[in-house]
Formats: sequence, structure tokens, C-alpha cells
Amino acid sequence: MVRFCVRCGAEEKEGFPIIDGLCPRCFVKERKIVELPPKIEVTLCPSCGSTLLRGKWVFISDRIEEVVETIINEAFIKRTNTYPGFEDVFAEVKELTDTTARILVTGSYRGALVSQEVLINVLVKKRLCPRCMKIKSGHFEAEMQIRTMAPLRGEWSRRFVSDVQSMRRLQESVVDVKEVKNGVDVKVLDQRAAMKLASYLKRVFGARVVSTWKDAGYRSGRKHSKLTVSVRLPGLIEGDVIELGGRLAIVVAFYGPKMVIKFLDTGEEVTVSLQRAWTEGLRYLADKEYAIKEEGGKRYLLYKGRAYIMDR
Ligand SMILES: [Zn+2]
Ligand SMILES: [Zn+2]
Repeated sequence: MVRFCVRCGAEEKEGFPIIDGLCPRCFVKERKIVELPPKIEVTLCPSCGSTLLRGKWVFISDRIEEVVETIINEAFIKRTNTYPGFEDVFAEVKELTDTTARILVTGSYRGALVSQEVLINVLVKKRLCPRCMKIKSGHFEAEMQIRTMAPLRGEWSRRFVSDVQSMRRLQESVVDVKEVKNGVDVKVLDQRAAMKLASYLKRVFGARVVSTWKDAGYRSGRKHSKLTVSVRLPGLIEGDVIELGGRLAIVVAFYGPKMVIKFLDTGEEVTVSLQRAWTEGLRYLADKEYAIKEEGGKRYLLYKGRAYIMDR
């Protein structure tokens, strides 16, 4: 049985369905693919550009059109306000003026695409997000002091810089990174993020982590403490001379949280985890603390009045 549009008499055909008695042309004049509010409010942080979406601050785009489009699609198009039978409904912002967005809503009805233009009043409100508010007020919850034990050299410098940069990207809570001698100072907005970062550095680089909480008085009636996390990375490279548990050794290889060292008193080569090394007492020896002497084709390391054979 062929169906016709009750308004204009158009006949139903492939790609031109009759939707509750109406052809697509008449349908979009009389009814709505999706029931959108006449007015939406967009809250933007003027400092970082993030947007309040379903109660959460997220960064969507620098382009306000894209922000409005995402908000409409994610917060306002739902199954419950979509006309029965329509699927895959989405909105595109075609034009945005100071107050009005011209939107093209498209949906699929029995396999045919139907589009409808909708005007929505857009009210853009500017408000600092909680994160920017905290930054502006100079408030932070934790301070991380990340240092290397040995001077920052070669591969470590590169690793350090790239790691700090990825921290900046990944950790929303990192508000400030300052490079200092042999490390960085990082200000973090929440203490849990600081602890997470510290445990990552411990697991991956064998860092030693010491956390201290300092009483910082009361804030909003609650007892408040400031966390300082001291993170010590070994920063050792192949060929470094170290003291481990009172014995001299040379670093043979370094991988992640472990290293291979050669004890100079016995010539024995062992793999030790950094965590064990820290507890046994690990120290980096600067060049000026020892001397290297060659005699009879052999190299000796002179330290505190003793000579150690270097190549066995
Ligand atoms: Zn019609
Ligand atoms: Zn912000």
C-alpha cells in the first residue's frame, strides 16, 4: 500500500519516508526531530578555556562553535527527547552570532536522512574554573621537589625534561614546574595527584620518595595540611662511581628501577634494585673525590688511601 503525506500529498518512496502521516519536508515544518531548549547557557573559563559540561569542567576546543556543538550533542540530545523512530541524531552549528546559534539537526528515519534547521539562543557566561581560581589565588596543596642524586647529565636530562613535559600534559593538577639545579620543583593542586606522580617515579625510575605533611592551620573550618614530597632520582649513568653500603662500585648498566654494578673490592657484578640500594645507603662519588691512576697496564681507583683495581 502506497502512503501519502496528509499535508502535501507527496508519495512515499525510497529515501523519502512518511513519518506519522507527513513527508520529511512537511515533518520538519511542523514537528521536531529532537526537542531542544530554546536557550542554552555555556559557561567558559576565561583563563584556560575549559567548559562546564554536565557538571564537570572539560576542555573542548578554542572555537566556541565547537564548544556549543559538543554541549548540544552530549548534554541535550537524548533518546527521551528524540522523535520516535529517529536514530543517530546529531547537531551541527552552522553559524553562531553573539546570541544565536543556527543549528542543523540531522537524524536517520528508516534509513533516510532528515535534516532540520533550529535556532537556539546561546548565552555565554565567563567564570573561572576551580582549578584556575586556585592558581590565581596562589593556592596549592602539594609541593614536589624532584632532584637527581648525581648531577643531571646526558640521557637523564632528556628523560627528565620529557617526563616533566608529559606530567604537565597528563596531570591536570600540575600548576607550576620550575627548573632548578639538578631537578625541578612542581606545584600540584591536589595531594592525591602528587602521591600518584611520586609512586610513578618510584616504580619507573627507582626514585626514593619522602613525604612530609606540615600543619597549615585551618581552612573553611577544617584542619589543613600541606604536603611536601621529596623525590630523589638516582640520575646515575654507566661508568659512575658509587658507594653502596660502604663499598665502592662502578655502575655497569642502568635500567628503570634496577641497576647492574661491579663492586671494586671483589670484582663481583650484581643487579640491585634501587629501592634496596637506597635503604643500604647509596651515594654518588663526584670526580674530585677519587683519583684514577694507571700502572703496569692496569687502572686503579684511589679513594681514602686505598687503591682498587678497576679492570679485572
Ligand atoms: Zn508533505
Ligand atoms: Zn580554567
